[in-house]
Amino acid sequence: MTLQTPEPVTELSPPPVETFARGKVGLDSGTQERGTVLCFTMAETFRLFVKNAQQLVAVCSGGERFLAGDRMQRLAVIDNGAVVVGRDGLVRAVGSTDVLEKQFRQASFDKVIDASGMVVVPGLIDSHTHPVWAGDRVHEFAMKLAGATYMEVHQAGGGIHFTVEHTRRATPEQLFSSLTERLTRMLRAGTTLVECKSGYGLDLDTELKMLTVVEKARTALPMGISSTYCGAHAVPKGRTEAEAVQDIVQVQLPRLQEKMALGELRVNNIDVFCEKGVFDLDSTRTILQAGKALGLQINFHGDELHPMNSAEVGDPQRGIGAMCHSPASSIHSLALWLVALVLAMSAFPLVLFHINC
Ligand SMILES: [Zn+2]
Repeated sequence: MTLQTPEPVTELSPPPVETFARGKVGLDSGTQERGTVLCFTMAETFRLFVKNAQQLVAVCSGGERFLAGDRMQRLAVIDNGAVVVGRDGLVRAVGSTDVLEKQFRQASFDKVIDASGMVVVPGLIDSHTHPVWAGDRVHEFAMKLAGATYMEVHQAGGGIHFTVEHTRRATPEQLFSSLTERLTRMLRAGTTLVECKSGYGLDLDTELKMLTVVEKARTALPMGISSTYCGAHAVPKGRTEAEAVQDIVQVQLPRLQEKMALGELRVNNIDVFCEKGVFDLDSTRTILQAGKALGLQINFHGDELHPMNSAEVGDPQRGIGAMCHSPASSIHSLALWLVALVLAMSAFPLVLFHINC
């Protein structure tokens, strides 16, 4: 990876009046043009000033909103960097410490951090996790090392069903304790925003228990959490796929809606495991549309193990913004999705590749 020193973009001469109007003060948070900051008065109070960082990683050096392809190999790094954060939590300016100290000399800050000898980097976003669970599945590695497939482990009572049994038995306190431990570890590693799924209950009570634990973590931890209802993570033991769909649509989602209306839960997304032997395309579509009707954003598992043409369900024109675990997606179905995506000018697709869920 090549570290790139951004061109100097700050100007030292003070503005003629006390209000900056998109003046060229430093790299901004990425949503504005290069070298601009939001408007502020020189005597304004800001939340935070981090200065003297040995390196400050700004990612983009030319005002790009993101990096893609080979350009991801070239990070923009500012030596002796500084960053100013406003009272609204938004990054107001990024640049060298010398420049920002002069530019903000009349401003006051709630907090100043001397980051000498440190590196300041943007927070990481983990857009797909299953962090609420009980029951260790390390023993399944022996089966997998012996050649068992994901579905063979699943059919032998392992996989998701093993975790479901233990998660159903766990108390909310136990789940909260292990969740906060996991999220705290992620926070220490740099994750500041994480998507957290339910999905190891498969019944109303346990799914609500998991989502309530996620809700509690939102206020207990200094990190952003996006909450996802994943009651269709597997077909519960003793039920058919059709019965599971009926329970989700007619029992679980209405109860979820009540809890959300009361302000007891804030759920952002809905997820379905669209997979051969789990939920087919029709079931997936039915559940996702029911969730969308409640205002939930759609973010589902598609084509993880078999090509299911999930991308056709994940048509952004239907308001579906993210599909994960998609190594088995056909070029044809992904192409359909991407064409639809461009036509819809909708959210960016998120195609992730990871194994254990
Ligand atoms: Zn997953």
